[in-house]
Amino acid sequence: MVDRLFVMIILMAPWATEKHVSDLRKHIINSGMSASVLENAGRKLIAVSLCGGPLFEKSFETWPGVEQTFPIIQPFMLASREFNPENTLIQLKMKKSPGVKPAIFGGNDVQIIAGPCAVEDEKSCMEIAEKVKEAGCNIFRGGVFKARTSPYAFQGLGKKGLKILEKIKKQFGMFIVTEVLDSSEIPPTIEVADVLQIGTRNMTNFRLLESLGKFDKPILLKRGMSSTIREFLMAAEYILKNGNPNVILCERGIRTFETHTRFTMDINAFPAIKQISHLPIIADPSHATGSWRLVESVSLAAVAAGADGLLIEVHTDPKNALSDGVQSILPERLPALIKKVRAIKNILIEE
Ligand code: PEP
Ligand code: MN
Repeated sequence: MVDRLFVMIILMAPWATEKHVSDLRKHIINSGMSASVLENAGRKLIAVSLCGGPLFEKSFETWPGVEQTFPIIQPFMLASREFNPENTLIQLKMKKSPGVKPAIFGGNDVQIIAGPCAVEDEKSCMEIAEKVKEAGCNIFRGGVFKARTSPYAFQGLGKKGLKILEKIKKQFGMFIVTEVLDSSEIPPTIEVADVLQIGTRNMTNFRLLESLGKFDKPILLKRGMSSTIREFLMAAEYILKNGNPNVILCERGIRTFETHTRFTMDINAFPAIKQISHLPIIADPSHATGSWRLVESVSLAAVAAGADGLLIEVHTDPKNALSDGVQSILPERLPALIKKVRAIKNILIEE
């Protein structure tokens, strides 16, 4: 676990010896700074921090075994591109069913996560899952612990809903994404889910983020509806700092003066975050727009801007859905949408 803010990363050459690393580390410590040796993709890194010592101003690039130094200018060190210049790939694998193709976030594919806002009952949920699977999606999402604006609104089926998700996973071989609202919900959910979602309202629940750091289960971290990009990446940093490197970011729309749509998709966030962070980022056009009619267009825009995937609310009977029916598309609309987003992604990766 990393426990302080670093000011510089020293990347050691692949051929650097243990002695190169330990000599340089001792030198840094003797100069009044602190140094931690980390390993990333088989390469040794030395993270230098100030720790109240003298102002850092030396270049270590002339030391034997050093390939390059990177000053850390972002307050989110572990999430920054300086820390990891390559894109982080997050792979979902079905351990119990090795025949199911893994899903990779952050690579050349657009991952489509689809399903109802809430798991309402077994019959409707199984039916939606079957249709979503037929449409070519392998990642099912349904909320069982729901964060509703009104305490009188449907709050989700809780643990009973987890059993339904488990059944979907077994029957259709789909990966499962579902939200947790507090740390007591993590242990039962982690048994079933392949990805734990943290909703917009919990992005700044720092104790919850810290507890997610103790697991290696991928976390789908949604951007706070009124949070800046920096605050978003700092929230991811809480999870990374506590030991879980598997964070998938999700831009789900922010609050602006516009009231025509439910929120406003921050299209800028995709290329901006790709520049400063190595973490994968997906788009949620359903919550960003609040209208099923806008979901396809905004999906295409997000993928064109660099999104690694989409989270789309789907319902077979939107008018009777217990939550977010108005922004849920019919499963029949998925194949055309997927075909178009894949075509856009292909243009991007051909470059
Ligand atoms: C949801 O995914 O159904 C949800 C409540 O999302 P958000 O946290 O983005 O509002
Ligand atoms: Mn929803």
